[in-house]
Amino acid sequence: MNYALACLAALALLVADEDKIWLKDGKVVAGTIVDRKNAYVEITVDGRKQRVTREKIAKITDANDHVRWIDACETRTAHYTIQSNSEKASIDGLTRKVELFYAWFFANYNADLKLHAMKHLAISFIDHRDEYLTVAKVVQSGGVTPPGFYSQGSEMLFVCREPVGGSEDPDCVLFHEAGHQILHLCANLGGGDEHHWVNEAMACTFEGLKLDGDKAVMGLSDQRIRNLQLRIAHGEALHPLDVLDKLRKEQYHAPEYDQGYALALFFLTGNGGKWKKPFLAYFQDIALTRVRENTFERLFGRKIESFDAEWRDFVVALAVAPQQPGAGGPHR
Ligand SMILES: [Zn+2]
Repeated sequence: MNYALACLAALALLVADEDKIWLKDGKVVAGTIVDRKNAYVEITVDGRKQRVTREKIAKITDANDHVRWIDACETRTAHYTIQSNSEKASIDGLTRKVELFYAWFFANYNADLKLHAMKHLAISFIDHRDEYLTVAKVVQSGGVTPPGFYSQGSEMLFVCREPVGGSEDPDCVLFHEAGHQILHLCANLGGGDEHHWVNEAMACTFEGLKLDGDKAVMGLSDQRIRNLQLRIAHGEALHPLDVLDKLRKEQYHAPEYDQGYALALFFLTGNGGKWKKPFLAYFQDIALTRVRENTFERLFGRKIESFDAEWRDFVVALAVAPQQPGAGGPHR
């Protein structure tokens, strides 16, 4: 209900209850049902009677004739269902991005992770900032609100069309959060408190994704690399990798996101992808809480701390455009 109320405030045609029909730009999105005939439903909009076909009404009302307003603009693509109160045209950019991401993810990870294909990954695309912040407050528990987030409980990805604030790049956040969703629902890989870095680091590796024509290509999350390179150049201490591996959720903040990301990037792409398989197997073991004292060593053939120097060299050698240090990306 909070969600609906927040949206109502944002639209030109204001009605207060859920059992109303809305009309916007020729599309039924608001109004009040006054009479039901065989072929059409008579409604009032701003006090004026209008007729809407029964077919249109059926699509947006439930068994009790209450409007499921969020379905008023439901768009289905091959793998996603986007619920929105926005114009369809404004969703096109989003549907293209998530579909290209989905294709890229399957091309890169199906062989190693044995993915489940999904037809309706759910996205709530919220038009206005205030409305989005209201929803974010209800769904997530505190903290800074990024321009998108994934709710593991509702299995829904929430995205705002308007800028939400902060320095985060909306596309980078979108791919990070869509990454949490696809890992959770297509690979059964969710986040836990133990070895928290793995799940977050995997999501961070999607942040650098670039759309090139009709496909997505992997790129770097530049700001995270810059942050790390600066810290190394200034002689700041980074977590030894065995310490990073054991950090819990509440110990994992912006610097840890940067470091975890770079470590996942090293395991996935360093040495020609030599460590990709054991790293993904490690992720699966973490998700199924199968990780024991010697799990890493068993999968990689060596201890995680033995990668310290090699990983650091990998980070220092990465080429990114110089820029001011900054936050770097989503921290959730
Ligand atoms: Zn995350």
